Amino acid sequence: MESNVVSHRVTHLIGNAALARFMAASTWARRQNEPGIADFTLGNPNDMPLPAFTEALQRWSVPRNARWFAYKNSEPDAQAVIAASLHERRGVAFEPADIALTNGAFAGLAVSFLTVTDPGDEVIFLSPPWFFYEPLIIAANCTPVRVTLPPPGFDLDPNAIAAAITPRTRAIIVNSPHNPSGRIYPPEALTELARVLTDASARHGRPIYLLSDEAYCRIVYDGRSFPSPTAFYPYSILIYTYGKTLLTPGQRLGYLALPPEMPLAAREQLRGATMLAQFITGHAFPNALLQHALGDLDKLSIDVGHLQRRRDRMVTALGGTGYEVNLPEGTFYLLVRSPLGDDFAFTELLAQRDVFVLPGSTAECPGYFRISLTASDEMIDRALPVFAAAIQEAAAAPVSS
Ligand code: PMP
Repeated sequence: MESNVVSHRVTHLIGNAALARFMAASTWARRQNEPGIADFTLGNPNDMPLPAFTEALQRWSVPRNARWFAYKNSEPDAQAVIAASLHERRGVAFEPADIALTNGAFAGLAVSFLTVTDPGDEVIFLSPPWFFYEPLIIAANCTPVRVTLPPPGFDLDPNAIAAAITPRTRAIIVNSPHNPSGRIYPPEALTELARVLTDASARHGRPIYLLSDEAYCRIVYDGRSFPSPTAFYPYSILIYTYGKTLLTPGQRLGYLALPPEMPLAAREQLRGATMLAQFITGHAFPNALLQHALGDLDKLSIDVGHLQRRRDRMVTALGGTGYEVNLPEGTFYLLVRSPLGDDFAFTELLAQRDVFVLPGSTAECPGYFRISLTASDEMIDRALPVFAAAIQEAAAAPVSS
């Protein structure tokens, strides 16, 4: 291979060998675009988009003034929509000026790192994590520090987090509802976490920020409420994407928000710093059309009741054939124990029968596989007999030493 073609900075980001293997060398990598497969791997849509989503984009694509498609930062109308929506949903009075429009949670995270960390700072993330936490932390020239969420419950462990904190710790990423386990962290754990972070911040003389990745906060089941980590700790940054709620991840729309409990002097500094960080992160704002349409888009959601029925159907069917399945409280994923210790081998066994799931080892969850409930009902019809046959086949397989 030719050397000195790409930067070391980028090459040393590719640390997740299991993910790289799945993306480049699995049967899914070869066959993901074939018609007729049942694809449960990623949170991509497999049904047509919400008609109201398309209608909103059509309506707002008609310019109403000469500046309609001019450079947009965080548009005041969009900030006001989000502040009103958060107030209605959570009863918290976020200030519009404390809301920054971002092109999804990817940008919200990248911009937050740039805004609050310095090179050499440590950032804690919880494992199993979303794939991009570690590369994003490294890209910000920070040191990722992993704290394990113990299976099968994947509960938040404030003591383990306390033990991982050092004087260099600047931030922790908390993701609730949690991808891939579907856990929603309860108020007791969040209260305890806040105490740990408050004590450590006081001890070390600077705030540790809580980056609250709330990508799935509107996808919760069984009538649960979602306790936001940002309501428990003032030095929090709420990070949200509409990509899950609307199931339109290719339309890049999201925001970050500073809670009103954060001291005003800190918020005022962060407002300006965030905007600057967005400029130098490749103008990390949603495009003009999405910002104009936000008032309509914020009201929409995929049918969470339908997702819950899919969850229940899959959990019942898989459980009935002998799989161990975690019942998710939120998100659109199911985490299932792999009948073979080698989760990659089991996902390949399913792939031979046109059913594709994500090996848990790609998300630091070896011995599991992840199913996305964004597969269509018709894919589920086709896949259930395959799952049933595959667990039988795995049971009959010779046990490898
Ligand atoms: N955080 C989590 C936990 C996610 O699952 C995802 C998307 N899979 C993201 C952030 C990124 O969301 P987006 O692509 O909408 O920015």
